[in-house]
Amino acid sequence: MRLVILGPPGAGKGTQAASIVKEYQVPHISTGDIFRDNIKRGTDLGKKAKSYMDEGGLVPDELVNEIVIDRIKQDDCKDGFLLDGFPRTTNQAVVLDAALEAMKTKLDRAINIQVDTDLLVNRATGRRVCPECGETYHISNNPPKEAGICDHDGAKLIQRDDDKEETVAKRISVYESQTAPLIDYYKGQGLLLNVNGSQEIDQVFEDIKKGLGESRNQ
Ligand code: ADP
Ligand code: AMP
Repeated sequence: MRLVILGPPGAGKGTQAASIVKEYQVPHISTGDIFRDNIKRGTDLGKKAKSYMDEGGLVPDELVNEIVIDRIKQDDCKDGFLLDGFPRTTNQAVVLDAALEAMKTKLDRAINIQVDTDLLVNRATGRRVCPECGETYHISNNPPKEAGICDHDGAKLIQRDDDKEETVAKRISVYESQTAPLIDYYKGQGLLLNVNGSQEIDQVFEDIKKGLGESRNQ
């Protein structure tokens, strides 16, 4: 199963990705997580990416494409993968298609999580993440058992630097101009699976499973 998951910031891509990779046993490749890990480790890539991320903009394609293409060539991706947060521009989608073609394979589906815009800001600003294990919570929609503490490892939850309200608004507008055109791109390829992401987390996942089980082009 070779999948991409699309949707505006805060749509629930990472939340659904965690369930999808468990169900279908494929690696979860999140470009946002890769950049955040590089920032934490102080690598050159992290230093370059940070300024774009802090402003709510996109990291340039030339810094992103190679990382993803190298990653999907690794052995654990030979039977599938889930790309979360990539592609985000038409150039990235074209580069991905070309790389898959060279590997004599192709994507199976592009899952598009659709969420009412007025829910997005609350979802992103209320997001809290565990700095240790990466688990994502929401202060009211999906709270941990004890406020501010990760259920898995007891670490203190943090708010992402780019989840402040002004930055979230910028990220949503960048999504609209640069990433939303990918919906038509994948629709044209007959790969698009639209899912109503304004529902409860578990119901969104049920719809994804159902959609992935059905044939394409409906
Ligand atoms: P994305 O990866 O698309 O930016 P996340 O998966 O990190 O989004 O979700 C953003 C925030 O919204 C998180 O705090 C998450 O717990 C919450 N969330 C995710 N899906 C839902 C949903 N279906 N209903 C309510 N809140 C959700
Ligand atoms: P995410 O974790 O997917 O919300 O991504 C956080 C930030 O990382 C984005 O706002 C971008 O600045 C950057 N980023 C992640 N993936 C990409 C990508 N495919 N292309 C460009 N920038 C990206």
